[in-house]
Amino acid sequence: VSKYIIGGGITGLIASFYNPDYRIITDKIGGQMAANTAGPRILEVNEYSRMFLKDLGFENVNTKFAKIGYKVRGKIVDSISKSLRNKYYLKSRCLDDANLIPNSIMSDGKNTIEYFDISWDEIIERLISNIKKPVINKITSIDTEEKIIVLDGLPFRYEKLISTIPAPAFFKASKLNPEKELKFIQKVFIIVDSSTIDMREYEYIYYPECQYPYHRISKVGSNKLSIEFTTNEDTSKILNYWKHISIQNIIIPIGQIQSGMISKVKDISFFGRYACWDHDLKVDDVIRQSIDYNDTERKNIYDGI
Ligand SMILES: Cc1cc2nc3c(=O)[nH]c(=O)nc-3n(C[C@H](O)[C@H](O)[C@H](O)COP(=O)(O)OP(=O)(O)OC[C@H]3O[C@@H](n4cnc5c(N)ncnc54)[C@H](O)[C@@H]3O)c2cc1C
Repeated sequence: VSKYIIGGGITGLIASFYNPDYRIITDKIGGQMAANTAGPRILEVNEYSRMFLKDLGFENVNTKFAKIGYKVRGKIVDSISKSLRNKYYLKSRCLDDANLIPNSIMSDGKNTIEYFDISWDEIIERLISNIKKPVINKITSIDTEEKIIVLDGLPFRYEKLISTIPAPAFFKASKLNPEKELKFIQKVFIIVDSSTIDMREYEYIYYPECQYPYHRISKVGSNKLSIEFTTNEDTSKILNYWKHISIQNIIIPIGQIQSGMISKVKDISFFGRYACWDHDLKVDDVIRQSIDYNDTERKNIYDGI
């Protein structure tokens, strides 16, 4: 009987680092962050990310400022109106209507973000060397009554679980029902050479207006740009249209969380954007979740719970 984290993306690795008695079970290590050429993947500077890098043994990591632009009426500008923010929200989620538009939309409307100048590969490597050796296998089912995870026919009994796998995969494997139906849309990223579009000094640019089929373009990797689409359409249409300039195509099936809510499950906690089904969660929130969880667990032991 033991404690496991299911899913070995950046969330699972961080959760295991701060909760060392939990072993990861995953089919792959690194998840989305290991292939970080799609979209602006930055570790924002704040108290949690600063503490995290220090805890990992990275001293004095330089910080940089990402400049964020908004394309409006043919011009790149540094700020945007509330109605264009709302328009962007609907466009980037393929929605016709919405009651509540979160503040976090379009990088909180900021025009600069301070981030750590460090690669996710370096962070992932350091995390792997500081955690228990993960079990590499695909989870086929989870029996939440008997508290058993099944991997390719092999059962693992658990005492406690932290789930970081995407919520639709968790609810399918456990045959439980979420509180509200989990709806999502795929994202398509067309990677092109940086000479294709003049990004000027901007790290990424948002495109709220409907005449652009994409909604964000970001500088990625060395000398590349990522053009980002959220779409219900057949991907072959997009891939075909852009094939003359495309260096690479990346498709993330659960790219954009649209609506829904997970339900509570006994002895299972959910960490990270896709497991919690909350698009607002970023890596620094995962650090906070992982540290808080460790503190609560320790407190429960002392209190004899
Ligand atoms: C375009 C884009 C840009 C982003 N930019 C930023 C950013 O700038 N800053 C930021 O903080 N966040 C950013 N995010 C969010 C961030 O990328 C994600 O929150 C994070 O990478 C998700 O990591 P995760 O570990 O939660 O999930 P994932 O990376 O999806 O990992 C899930 C893991 O579970 C495993 N798994 C799934 N199903 C099973 C199964 N049945 N059995 C075993 N294993 C399984 C997978 O192999 C994978 O390793 C961005 C996201 C996108 C899409």
